[in-house]
Amino acid sequence: MAYLAEQIREARQRIADRRLSAVESAEERRREVEAKSPEIAQIDAALAKTARRIFEISAAGPDGVREKIEKLRKENEELLSERRAILDTLGYPGDYTEIRYTCPICQDTGYDGTRMCACLKRELVAEGFRASGIGRLIEKQSFENFSLDYYRSSEKDYALMEQTLEAAKEFAETVPPQYGNLLMMGGTGLGKTHLSTAIARRVIERGYEVRYENAQNVIAAYEHDRFRSGRDGEDERSAIYLDAELLILDDLGTELVNSFSVSAIYHLLNTRINREKPTIISTNLMQEELQAKYSDRIFSRLLGEYRILLFKGTNVRYLKK
Ligand SMILES: [Zn+2]
Repeated sequence: MAYLAEQIREARQRIADRRLSAVESAEERRREVEAKSPEIAQIDAALAKTARRIFEISAAGPDGVREKIEKLRKENEELLSERRAILDTLGYPGDYTEIRYTCPICQDTGYDGTRMCACLKRELVAEGFRASGIGRLIEKQSFENFSLDYYRSSEKDYALMEQTLEAAKEFAETVPPQYGNLLMMGGTGLGKTHLSTAIARRVIERGYEVRYENAQNVIAAYEHDRFRSGRDGEDERSAIYLDAELLILDDLGTELVNSFSVSAIYHLLNTRINREKPTIISTNLMQEELQAKYSDRIFSRLLGEYRILLFKGTNVRYLKK
């Protein structure tokens, strides 16, 4: 599990906000019923003195402490049942002024004892989704809704896509912490984005950081760093792509290719390989086009370290219409 400190902070903050608003709205409901019923206001005032009365009882000496506390407890119980009765006559449910936590298990603290509560884990996953850069797609595209039916028109394509899907699923369950890279190749609308998003989703759910970016923006980050390097207080923008636990580089080949972009992409992929950080590349280009567009240096690096997943079939986007 390697959540970023910032993500943990954000997720905890969200849970803390829930707790605060639960407490505040209970307080608001209490003021509402107290305004309607002076008796309830009196009861609440009496109950609020409980802690002080316990303190006074124990401060008065050891004689009869237990009996006095028991008497106080009974009084409080009577006050509470009287309070419920008044609420009932006013038409409110008996627990109307109780705090209503979003998560009753941890009472919106994020922890169930010393263990992280499921609600905090869910927030961390949501935080990971947000930080990945995928946007709303990640909520829509998963392995569960990836359908092989679109590839049925050709038996060969279907068999190939079945293998591709299996490989993607296996990757999503094991990488990271295992090291591996995928090169997704195939035309537009054949499901590359869907499967890479599904992998991202699963990897984030497993607690890892995923960064999803198109090649164009990665190169823009490198350009930014080239012109601004050394300025105080500014982080290198390319660092997030070098450091991400899983990087998904979308649409390689659509960007403007020049010597700078080629060396930027080489630096990125090579550094990640050297650091054994997994990367997924998706491209609409075929092998020969990729080879022609990028140097042999990049291409041989890719072929040596990447598992190629082929996407074939009829453009799914047309079939879905
Ligand atoms: Zn919880």
